[in-house]
Amino acid sequence: MKTLKTIKNKVGSPLVNMGPIRLRQPLPTEGIEQVDPFLLLHHYGPYAISAFNNPFDLGPHPHRGFEPITLLFKGEQLHRDSLGNEMLVKAGDVQWTTAGRGIIHAEGPSKEFVERGGELEGIQLWLNLPAAKKMMPANYQHLKSEDIPVVQNDDKTIDLKVIAGKQANKKGLIQTQTEVNVFTVKTQTEGNMKIDIPQTHESLIYLLDGEVLVNDKATLKKGATQMITFNQDGDFVEIEAKKESTLLVLSGEPIKEKVSQYGPYVMNTQTEIMEAMRDFQQGKMGYLY
Ligand code: MN
Repeated sequence: MKTLKTIKNKVGSPLVNMGPIRLRQPLPTEGIEQVDPFLLLHHYGPYAISAFNNPFDLGPHPHRGFEPITLLFKGEQLHRDSLGNEMLVKAGDVQWTTAGRGIIHAEGPSKEFVERGGELEGIQLWLNLPAAKKMMPANYQHLKSEDIPVVQNDDKTIDLKVIAGKQANKKGLIQTQTEVNVFTVKTQTEGNMKIDIPQTHESLIYLLDGEVLVNDKATLKKGATQMITFNQDGDFVEIEAKKESTLLVLSGEPIKEKVSQYGPYVMNTQTEIMEAMRDFQQGKMGYLY
């Protein structure tokens, strides 16, 4: 018989400053270094973007040793990278970058979007790579919103989009390097849904907006508890919508390796971090202007 996972941690989503950018960072947070294999979760916006207010525009910068992923919920961004990709990213689209041995990318609201004005909101997620894959060639996958498989609850009041991994009879289109599930969930004002998560996975639910009851026990609510992590002890979690809500559900087989992180690099040792800095300076991660 399937059993419910128990709740491990409940945390908020504190505002932090990343240079001039103000965003929410539920992970890492006090007491939670990572939810292995997920290292970092940034929730940016909603910002009211206009020609006079454009706070989230990231110029060219490198990465090595993990997978930086962007889930855009509102607005429109332009992605550019050293592999030669230049893509317009629309609300609901997903950008899945496998930095591997090195990539340089840039992203920010598109010029047209800034001129038009509107809300920008997204999630940036850092998914670790195991030692054996940290130096693989870089890769970029762009998933369009309309191509993402959707699973609905019985009442059809909750939509779960399978970006990566699997749920019910649907499989995500992203080619993953490790065993992970990445789902986004939109609820109406009521309804229940059971979400299957393998027992061996570390897992979490993050709430971007709204209010839901989790496992008939804990409330996720904007401005209060926004992230719940689970123990590796059951096969599913359950959500009950209390308002129109937007959620991110993440789970993955833990990598269980030492993490050495500095700036935009995530390796296993300090020596590998020094090598990454040197390789970037020598142009070995490519070029982007
Ligand atoms: Mn980046």
